[in-house]
Amino acid sequence: MSAYDVIIIGSGPGGYVCAIRCAQLGLKTACVEGRETLGGTCLNVGCIPSKALLHASHMLHEAEHNFTKMGLMGKSPSVDWKTMLAYKDDVIGQNTKGIEFLFKKNKVDWLKGWGSIPAAGKVKVGDDVHEAKAIVIATGSDSSSIPGVEVDEKVVVSSTGALELSKVPKKLVVIGAGVIGLEMGSVYSRLGSEVTVVEFLDHITPGMDSDTAKVFQRTLKKQGLTFILGAAVQKVEATRTKAKVTYKLRKNDTEAVLDADTVLVATGRKPFTDGLGLDALGVAVSERGVIGTDDHYATNIKGIYAIGDCIDGPMLAHKAEDEGMAVAEILAGQKGHVNYGVIPGVIYTHPEVASVGETEESLKDKGRKYKVGKFSFMGNGRAKANFAGDGFVKLLADAETDRILGAHIIGPMAGDLIHEICVAMEFGAAAEDIARTCHAHPTYSEAVREAALACGDGPIHS
Ligand code: NAD
Repeated sequence: MSAYDVIIIGSGPGGYVCAIRCAQLGLKTACVEGRETLGGTCLNVGCIPSKALLHASHMLHEAEHNFTKMGLMGKSPSVDWKTMLAYKDDVIGQNTKGIEFLFKKNKVDWLKGWGSIPAAGKVKVGDDVHEAKAIVIATGSDSSSIPGVEVDEKVVVSSTGALELSKVPKKLVVIGAGVIGLEMGSVYSRLGSEVTVVEFLDHITPGMDSDTAKVFQRTLKKQGLTFILGAAVQKVEATRTKAKVTYKLRKNDTEAVLDADTVLVATGRKPFTDGLGLDALGVAVSERGVIGTDDHYATNIKGIYAIGDCIDGPMLAHKAEDEGMAVAEILAGQKGHVNYGVIPGVIYTHPEVASVGETEESLKDKGRKYKVGKFSFMGNGRAKANFAGDGFVKLLADAETDRILGAHIIGPMAGDLIHEICVAMEFGAAAEDIARTCHAHPTYSEAVREAALACGDGPIHS
């Protein structure tokens, strides 16, 4: 048995970042992980591998659609699926080994195995019981299916199985037009699958600024994805090689059936806390399985904390990371804090979609007076040169004070561009602050400045 200041259960972005920060702040730290590699869902079967496949399939799309326009002649590449999967696995390996290196460098002990909490102050891993002054639960989330749909990870897959298909399916049906459905749907569409996305709501990407969601859907449609909206999937019947997806249109209750070689179930995720022993400990957990915490990530049981996907809030790796750092600082006697008003969200399709802060809909609901500064990438020289003129930057600012309240970008490198606005929002900046900041030419970021100018006397290039 060994004694620690902190034991973190789970080594995803929340857990490993928390562990490193705890160690940096002088706490004797261990992190429990039962997978063979560190990094949790994000590094092993989530964010990182999906980005590798998005990158590879985007390269193919560029070769097929834009190369000859630039005088790059010759046959387009063909897909060697096994090699593409090997590339993806190599990317995973490099990242997970990187965390192992960081643990060693920061003297974080990796307790290998699945952890449980037999009592406050104790963590059991295998036959060993370790003592800890504080325990941080960072066990993340798992994909959740819907009634009538059983995931076998072969024909009917979750996001995990979608990264390991034996071949590129001819017909892919995606259930759910959320982030996972659209990212993985894009990958397979670019690789040649016929992709149909069935969504319960009347629009894609719930919660997204509706202006942006409409343009996003149009863009994906142009790329070949088919959308069936306002449709509730009733059941999926699968054989060893094929599936039938039955859905009902909400407006008139008519049923229809889609044939598929593969079905991706992307209908959301649920907190993962199995086997921790939370019931016996009396840790407060909601009906949906969400662990209750206060502003300092403390559960109702003294010395037990929780962060990331298993507590309230958006299930995003970077939200978990920020909570990991904040709770580490709190445990070290500092003032850890997360600004939940400035957490960006990014969808890594092409073009990317990124957002932060309020949407027009949320501002209207709150009765706030706001102005909109919008600029199309068509007016951005760099975007035009790179066949990336589709999309826009949209800035929402307070009608009186000009303070930035939110931003929505669909276009090239949106996931990177959004951070200029995040920093501005952290500093309570006005749109004019961005408008008066010199932006290098020619860069995509000039479109952000132009949107800021559009909140004032007007943009230059539109
Ligand atoms: P989601 O909640 O984003 O979307 C699920 C969609 O499924 C919703 O639009 C919902 O209306 C629809 N749906 C539910 N039941 C249905 C039914 N019976 N028939 C048809 N449609 C139905 O969930 P997700 O895409 O599975 O993602 C899960 C979580 O992982 C999210 O919190 C997401 O933010 C996160 N994630 C983020 C990223 C990223 O940041 N790039 C990438 C992957 C996952």
